[in-house]
Amino acid sequence: MKLDVQGTFYDIPFKEITLLNALVYIRENIDPTLQFKYNCKSGVCGSCSVRVNNQETLSCEYKVQDGDKIEPLLHQTKVQNRLKKVQSWLHVKSLKLMGEANEQKIQRQSDCILCSSCFSACPVFHVKPDFLGPYALTRAWRYMADVREKDKQGFIERIQEEGIWDCTLCGECTLACPVGIDSKADILHLRTKSMQAGKFDPTPQPEFEDDFGFNPNF
Ligand code: SF4
Ligand code: SF4
Repeated sequence: MKLDVQGTFYDIPFKEITLLNALVYIRENIDPTLQFKYNCKSGVCGSCSVRVNNQETLSCEYKVQDGDKIEPLLHQTKVQNRLKKVQSWLHVKSLKLMGEANEQKIQRQSDCILCSSCFSACPVFHVKPDFLGPYALTRAWRYMADVREKDKQGFIERIQEEGIWDCTLCGECTLACPVGIDSKADILHLRTKSMQAGKFDPTPQPEFEDDFGFNPNF
């Protein structure tokens, strides 16, 4: 079968093979200059994430098809420092014990493997390169919702600018996540908590009238 790897076509003599193994084969047998990242080879570390036919996927899990188009993730130069910006860790710890029920509430968000697929899929980066992005906001929600964290307000302050209000709620990040994290839902949780703390979307809302001349902004 033939694979299009960033505009170069390679023939590989296999039918059932993961993309990662195909890339390793190409590098060892056809093109030693081919560069790509991987580590665990079992869908855990997230380092082998790429785009296949414009869809983010882990190359160690994806079985290649003839004619597949392989590209690197998008927006990766902007990923750095996002977690630091939202300070995704516990700040002021209370003495509360986590408990199984509370642990389960943030289990899914804790499963993030930092593969950056959601970041690559998010359309906002095309127009707002400083957007905090889905996985940083998911991690913010993970720590804000942690019962041991007392400084919830700190998280609310850090996610306002270039943050929750810039998300279009398109859901592309949720579709791209290989471990089933719903960043869109996490952003909605963060918006609700922000509104409860008196914060609102600073973007001016457009004037709108329905067919009967009713303007819901008034
Ligand atoms: S839901 Fe928001 S964060 Fe997720 S991809 Fe869409 S715009 Fe980006
Ligand atoms: S939220 Fe999902 S897609 Fe985004 S970095 Fe974490 S594991 Fe990857």
